[in-house]
Amino acid sequence: MIDPFGRRISYLRVSVTDRCDLRCVYCMAEDMTFLPKAQILSLEELERLCGAFIGLGVERIRLTGGEPLVRRDVMSLIRNLGARIGPGALRELTLTTNGTQLAKHAEGLYAAGVRRLNVSLDSLDPARFRALTRWGDIEKTLHGIFAAKAAGLAIKINAVAMKGVNEDEFDRLIAWCGEHGFDLTLIETMPMGEIGEDRTNQYLPLSLVRRRLRETWTLEDTDYATGGPARYMVVRETGRRLGFITPMTHNFCESCNRVRLTCTGTLYMCLGQEDAADLRALLRDPAVDEAGLREAIEAAIARKPKGHDFVIDRRHSRPAVGRHMSVTGG
Ligand code: SAM
Ligand code: SF4
Repeated sequence: MIDPFGRRISYLRVSVTDRCDLRCVYCMAEDMTFLPKAQILSLEELERLCGAFIGLGVERIRLTGGEPLVRRDVMSLIRNLGARIGPGALRELTLTTNGTQLAKHAEGLYAAGVRRLNVSLDSLDPARFRALTRWGDIEKTLHGIFAAKAAGLAIKINAVAMKGVNEDEFDRLIAWCGEHGFDLTLIETMPMGEIGEDRTNQYLPLSLVRRRLRETWTLEDTDYATGGPARYMVVRETGRRLGFITPMTHNFCESCNRVRLTCTGTLYMCLGQEDAADLRALLRDPAVDEAGLREAIEAAIARKPKGHDFVIDRRHSRPAVGRHMSVTGG
């Protein structure tokens, strides 16, 4: 699948649920209304859609959410998608998770063919972690992370950088990741969905963070790239990668290779735009066969926009897009 700007679409992110067992302050409001079950695709429907994308050339699938591992029976979907890994088909199946359920699922994930995970962890301080997630227990997340490591999964930690909240912790996070053999990615807050407070107070430009980190660490350029928004460096002292996701200060759209599917079967061609295609209606229409489904996906890809229009400043206090990150999964 090639979009109108010549970008090959080979990466699908699938939000398998909008629900989560945490309420991170930058992601969700405390009092969220989740979708009614009837609107959510069944695991079989999700698998059928993923199959259509694989047939069209998608090589990597990342399951996300909400929290993917809180969806009931999600391991059956993971096992079925894992079975499609092979030459000429799916090359990689990964997950982004908050880690709370990992202790239970780490070995099953490895057995299903998953080899890498992104785990979100914004602070190593228990009280701060609790405040950021509104009620999370850091021990549960850490236990999950180490269970995943023990099961043989490579781990990248994702931390959202927030002004006055965790900006004093990045040195510690880099050292901790180095010690345990994890990569780390710092993420700028993105203006997605109402969260019950003003985001301009949270926004911390990573260009500033990087300048500060250089006082302590030797950051070496690398040409490692994933077609995503992260720019990676290597921390010479730890030998681990450090990524910066900077949608606000850096435009990453030229090399974007991905589209996003929500748990209701809506396909978003860009994280930062509203245009979408409703694939659920087609999926549930007995008159639409596999060819019809593929045609609809191709028609959507033909509308993939050139880029996003994220802005966070005093004049734009409203979110750039109304949906929360938990809808499209980041
Ligand atoms: N629950 C899983 C987790 O937390 O990893 C997967 C879904 S979560 C929406 C995916 C990623 O998006 C997490 O790393 C989270 O920190 C990030 N995220 C959520 N809301 C964000 C926002 N407004 N700006 C930037 N990153 C955000
Ligand atoms: Fe849940 Fe992940 Fe959003 Fe936190 S970032 S509320 S863990 S979906």
